[in-house]
Amino acid sequence: MFRRTFALIAANAAVGAAVVLGAAPATAAPADTAAPAAMAAVTITYDDSYAAEFKDAVAQGVAIWNQSVTNVRIVKAAVGTRANVRVIADNNWPRATLGPVRPGGSGTVWMGRQAVQQGYNVVRIAAHEFGHILGLPDRRTGLCSDLMSGSSAPTSCANAKPSAAEASQVQRNYATTLTQAPTREIILVDAA
Ligand SMILES: [Zn+2]
Repeated sequence: MFRRTFALIAANAAVGAAVVLGAAPATAAPADTAAPAAMAAVTITYDDSYAAEFKDAVAQGVAIWNQSVTNVRIVKAAVGTRANVRVIADNNWPRATLGPVRPGGSGTVWMGRQAVQQGYNVVRIAAHEFGHILGLPDRRTGLCSDLMSGSSAPTSCANAKPSAAEASQVQRNYATTLTQAPTREIILVDAA
């Protein structure tokens, strides 16, 4: 009995390793080796109706994520449909719901003008806040090469791309096509 249990654990470990390998960007492997079920992208939608002057920056931040990961796609919600993510401009610090937000779930990005007025790059802010939506916490490393270092990087930092580690974490967050389970909402505030 013990031996049989052990074999089952070993098999699960092998599955876990395969999921990690599957998290590599699609460009790293020929398309015909991809497992269709595991690679199906999750799609979440956003509404920028209240994003005011930040609509272009939000579109650029979203495009960067869509270029950086394959397990999740972020698309604009069709007019009249309920979006998973609302993007709202206001005069406070930027902040966002901590995801991963999934189909059926919801989150909010606030494009706070306070960080823009302090000189932080607006596309980087948008990509950072969507990083929270995709399940990444803040990591105040001070490095411009890290997207989730946020305001711990200098205001001169214009990098809006996730690091390889950050992109891999999002790939793992969306490795399955589960729908959203109801959870308590956590909002991360990005004050400098
Ligand atoms: Zn943050």
